Amino acid sequence: MKTYSIKTFGCQMNHSDSERIAAVCESMGYKKASEYEIADLYVVNSCSVRQKAEDRVYGLMRNLQKLKSKKPEIKTVLTGCMAKRDIRQGQKKSLLYQQKYQETLKKQIPALDIVIEISEIHKLPEILGKKVNINPVEYLSIKPKYNSTFQAFVPISTGCNKFCTFCIVPFTRGEEVYRPYEEIYNEVQSLVTNNYKEITLLGQNVNSWRSDTTGHLKIPIPKYRDQNLIPKEYLDFPYLMESLADIEGDFWLRFTSSHPYDINPRLIEVIAQKDNIAKQVHFALQSGSDSVLKRMNRYYTVSEFKEKVDFIRRTIPNVAITTDIIVGFCGETDKEFEETLKVCEEIKFDQIYIAEYSQRQGTIAAKFYKDDVPVAIKAQRKQLLEEVLKKGALENNKRLIGTTQKALVYQQKKGTKEGLIARTTHGKDVFIECDEDCSHLIGNFVYVKIQQAKEFVLEGYLIK
Ligand code: SF4
Repeated sequence: MKTYSIKTFGCQMNHSDSERIAAVCESMGYKKASEYEIADLYVVNSCSVRQKAEDRVYGLMRNLQKLKSKKPEIKTVLTGCMAKRDIRQGQKKSLLYQQKYQETLKKQIPALDIVIEISEIHKLPEILGKKVNINPVEYLSIKPKYNSTFQAFVPISTGCNKFCTFCIVPFTRGEEVYRPYEEIYNEVQSLVTNNYKEITLLGQNVNSWRSDTTGHLKIPIPKYRDQNLIPKEYLDFPYLMESLADIEGDFWLRFTSSHPYDINPRLIEVIAQKDNIAKQVHFALQSGSDSVLKRMNRYYTVSEFKEKVDFIRRTIPNVAITTDIIVGFCGETDKEFEETLKVCEEIKFDQIYIAEYSQRQGTIAAKFYKDDVPVAIKAQRKQLLEEVLKKGALENNKRLIGTTQKALVYQQKKGTKEGLIARTTHGKDVFIECDEDCSHLIGNFVYVKIQQAKEFVLEGYLIK
């Protein structure tokens, strides 16, 4: 039997897409290769968010070239962000540009046989000359081959209409497309029936998800800048969360990512009311300076962001708030960066995913701004921000000492101290020391008494 291997780069959305790619490979009769070197079909699901991610794909492709020289019948496929560039100049021009872009990629990467957009992945069997009927044809509707037996990602939309100046996503994934309500509901219901414990809804901006009341809306509908303007006949994200949380069963719902502009009070109230929606809100501040936010085209000011944080903390007791920040964005002065430090000191985030700005060809920033902050300054700013993060996160975590937390065990920890790693509703890792083998608890909820707190991990013991 022929085998396949998938390499995934980048975000959770890409990892979720790879579960659909695996389903397509298996529909053609391939089975997962036990070792990377022996596969007959290689699919690389790429990421373009940072240059480093693209460099790794080029490195991988060089390795595949070596494998191909020994076994020429190997087929290689590139999909994901690197497989698409949309210049949005009308459909025909866009298609021509896309074809030219893919041809150039193939010239640059001799090992490459097929370049295919992720939204077209259901066409892979046809391209490879395999007679398989992938039904339905919408890529998000393909039934995934889940990697885990207790944690699942469920995409609810793809693409983004926001056009943050630093971001390549609107050009690689295109405009927002929403998955119909009924399809999402059925997938979550079936996961709960099959004993999945943690279900994470995914989208580039989950808050802009909508579906019509029949649940069959398949085409993107006009963008509504203000969520309050969404016509009543459309179901929105708070409604989706509320109805999924009402499914009977012992499970947690999470979601990512949220744009601060679109996160609305109704969603926060739903999170507060439903015990099975995780008490963690992740929304990306990106910068604590209004002038930088303007250059980033982020649609909100720092004070509006802080008002939302206050509302979230007032409405959801003990909530964890996490964020993303880019340091060293084009033209970021010392003063602008100090504003970011100050806001982070005030908010005391539980986690900050810090990225040093990396210019991406094709983005608005690459066209209009200069990437003029030196690499060493970016690294220094990252370090300073990490210090602020550690202080705030530790302070937040210490408040959990002495409390009992429900947590989902997801990993066994070996080494000097053996035990389990579980995740709390706040998205915090907790180490549980075990005297005997307790690996049977992986995939189950447990109750943990918290004894110790570090910046990014808690420690505790099992409550029987
Ligand atoms: S909201 Fe901005 S950063 Fe997020 S995917 Fe859309 S364009 Fe990119």
